[in-house]
Amino acid sequence: MADPLRLVLLGPPGAGKGTQARRLVERFGLDPISTGDIFRRNIQEGTDLGRMAKSFIDAGELVPDEVTVGMVVEAVDAAPGGFILDGFPRNVPQAEALERELAARGRPLSAALAFLLDEEVAMKRVAGRRTCQRCQTPYNVFFDPPRVEGVCDRCGGPIVQRTDEGEETVRRRLEVYRESTAPLLKFYSDQGLLREVDADGTEDEVAGRVAAALADLG
Ligand code: AMP
Repeated sequence: MADPLRLVLLGPPGAGKGTQARRLVERFGLDPISTGDIFRRNIQEGTDLGRMAKSFIDAGELVPDEVTVGMVVEAVDAAPGGFILDGFPRNVPQAEALERELAARGRPLSAALAFLLDEEVAMKRVAGRRTCQRCQTPYNVFFDPPRVEGVCDRCGGPIVQRTDEGEETVRRRLEVYRESTAPLLKFYSDQGLLREVDADGTEDEVAGRVAAALADLG
């Protein structure tokens, strides 16, 4: 049997990583691991982790690596087959820690998929973004609204704007992406793992590019 896919997704906020992750999860039967979703779930449930993470998230800053790396290792160990990491790693130390932990388990990454998007386009996309509070399905009030305003098409849950998607926080998140996360493109390129996808297009167009970029792996 072919080795299951182990992917990381990179890209600025608004690049559509979450949306494309869902499609890949369905297509390849992978376990989705989204650090942002895990943090948001913890915030909603009022856990210690959630309380700690919230101040960082609302400021557009990264949650400290000690916390985030441990959380991801646990999630990876709970995913025995293929997985897709959406939102992790976000800086070089996280990428190095991931590499070490995966090597120790004999489960190295298959590829790092980077979504490329102009910052101003990213900004506009995020400003319109809303998310289902229950199942995390993303919408955009301009480009991809739910059928009924404020109600999730998939699960009927309430659709809300994330507290970290005000303009100032998004500017900071884009800066953090540029400073801390973008260097990972070189990190993975040096390892021969990087695959780049133009993220400016419709969901279906980008999905087609993703499929082409991963064609030799499936
Ligand atoms: P996301 O939903 O992936 O955009 O993540 C939302 C927020 O969660 C980020 O802006 C960070 O504050 C935090 N976060 C998510 N993933 C990480 C990570 N790998 N390292 C540190 N903070 C993270």
